[in-house]
Amino acid sequence: MGVGRVRPVVSALAAYRPGKGAKQAEAEHGISDAIKIASNENPYAPPASVQKAIQAAAAGVNRYSDHGAAELRAKLAAWLDVDQDCVAVGCGSSGLLQQVCVAYIEPGDEVVTPWRSFEAYPIFVALTNGELVTVPLAEDHSIDLDAVAAAVGPRTKAVMLATPNNPTGLALSTAQIAEFMVKVPDDVLVVVDEAYREFSDPALGDPVKDLVGRFPNVVVTRTFSKAYGLAGLRSGYAVADPSVIEQLDKVLLAFSVNILAQAGAIAALDALDEIQVLVDSLLAERARVVDSLRASGVDFPDPQGNFVWLPIGDRTDEVALALEQRGVVVRPFSGEGIRVTISTPAENDRFLTTYAEVT
Ligand SMILES: *Cc1c(COP(=O)(O)O)cnc(C)c1O
Repeated sequence: MGVGRVRPVVSALAAYRPGKGAKQAEAEHGISDAIKIASNENPYAPPASVQKAIQAAAAGVNRYSDHGAAELRAKLAAWLDVDQDCVAVGCGSSGLLQQVCVAYIEPGDEVVTPWRSFEAYPIFVALTNGELVTVPLAEDHSIDLDAVAAAVGPRTKAVMLATPNNPTGLALSTAQIAEFMVKVPDDVLVVVDEAYREFSDPALGDPVKDLVGRFPNVVVTRTFSKAYGLAGLRSGYAVADPSVIEQLDKVLLAFSVNILAQAGAIAALDALDEIQVLVDSLLAERARVVDSLRASGVDFPDPQGNFVWLPIGDRTDEVALALEQRGVVVRPFSGEGIRVTISTPAENDRFLTTYAEVT
């Protein structure tokens, strides 16, 4: 109950609960020095050149941003070696995923996704009155593409594939996706959500190079939020057939890729070498965390993102709470497991020690 006649699908949505922050955990448990490794953020600030570009752009925020983000789009197209009309920018890649739903999903249309996966998908599908069809992950936590293909039916408009998948961390190769594409009708959009691409094995292939030209119904989404350390600014991009980009552009909320987000993303593309150093250090830490956990007998899938997935099932809530009481905030998925973001060496050590203590 409340004022106004809210749409039933909105009324039924859970209120957005941001992941618990370190400060909140400190207040709740009467502790200090809590760390948050719950949102897959980059623990490192962006390179100085990127920060400087953002600061310089701040002087111009009395103006609206360039709605079409022409400079960023041109730079992305040149870098990715695709035509400019194959690239859209959005308010984070979440913005683009929402645009896909707004542009393509009508009431009753189905969107198929392996599950568990990114928690924003059900929300975007609900908001457009679509129906989410979830396909359970395989026993080994990987995406069962045969089962996903089998779930595509006459009402399916789109398939969402997060690779690496959040929260399980496993990734698909472009060869696997290409094999899947052959089984999917060409009027069904297949969204390849690569929010964590920069942390995954390059041998898995590049969906932009290997899939977009070959299958016009593939939409690749990527983000500056994770590897590039710009989560707070909100910029992401999509690569797809120009006809899809045209529709996505129509439903981009005006100026939502703001001036600072554009400046930061442009500067990040000029600082790729420095960003790679940070990514490499996170990959080295990921290897260290994986080895340490496995050495103590913990079993979990090989991570391809900047996080590890510990499928501890029924112990999830208890372990997450025990960690939190000791100042280590991770992301629990009740009854399934915890997702732990790879961070600085000191924070990773803190997690490893505390996890050993509580399990
Ligand atoms: C973090 C994440 C995104 C998008 O993040 P943005 O900050 O909106 O770019 C998209 N997909 C998955 C699977 C994610 O984990």
